[in-house]
Amino acid sequence: MLEYSYPLFRPPAEANNLILQVTLGCSYNNCSFCSMYKTKNYEVRELEDVFKEIDTLAHHYPNATKIFLADGDALSLPCEQLLILLDKLNSTFTKLRRVSTYASTQNILGKSNKELELLCKSKLNLFYYGIETGSDVVLKKITKSVNQAEIITSLTKATDAGVKISATVILGIGGSKYSDLHVQETAKIINATKVNYLSTLQLGIEEEAKENFYRYFDDFTMADDEQILSEQKRFLELLEPTNKIIFRSNHASNALHLAGTLPKDRDRLVQELKMALDVGKSAFVPNYFRGF
Ligand code: SF4
Repeated sequence: MLEYSYPLFRPPAEANNLILQVTLGCSYNNCSFCSMYKTKNYEVRELEDVFKEIDTLAHHYPNATKIFLADGDALSLPCEQLLILLDKLNSTFTKLRRVSTYASTQNILGKSNKELELLCKSKLNLFYYGIETGSDVVLKKITKSVNQAEIITSLTKATDAGVKISATVILGIGGSKYSDLHVQETAKIINATKVNYLSTLQLGIEEEAKENFYRYFDDFTMADDEQILSEQKRFLELLEPTNKIIFRSNHASNALHLAGTLPKDRDRLVQELKMALDVGKSAFVPNYFRGF
């Protein structure tokens, strides 16, 4: 129906929703661990072309309630342009309830509070946000170009504007050496902000990204599944969020699938991790069911 530009990524939670590509690639495209958009140049699509695709989607799915704006960070668009796009979506899909996008620290900090409020009122009300780690040491080594304070400020700014946040943290991103620092500093972010959803993925580095990754992270040693689950257990033990967080660790990369609500289920999740670690490898998701 639509001629998408590939590769095309969307969060697992958007599997049943409409996807509209309004930008191509990632405006930053420089995190050393990430090869998602390395084959694509960042590009802003012509509004006229996007509007035609909205009409095509509306013809087939007039009752759509949720739309995901791709690619890597549609929030990189200026607020005025996003508002024009959201106007069109709201007038075309009369049952629309939610528009979502990947959003980076830089994207959010580049918008004023008022702009974020306007976007949220126009139903751009969910951001998928890759925290990855809260450690400034590790953030530098993975060339993320942001620091912990900026992550906290941006998340707070978005939630104050009414936007919901679905955040991801990457287990193993600090390797063995910085594992403790990674969990301690990342937990500080979760405890200081009000993310609504939290997922933990397990680090996997594509072959083509390895050279660049190790260039900046020369003391990195990949943690094995036991170390990763131990890291996840320490991370959960440190979480004391002041709001309710839907927690999931059920990505294809995860050695153990977990689900619960924080802080209510924290101790039960820690216990599940402890039991899996006591049993060892046979309790983990087998490698042939895993992917990154
Ligand atoms: S992790 Fe996100 S911000 Fe970083 S290069 Fe990949 S898509 Fe872009």
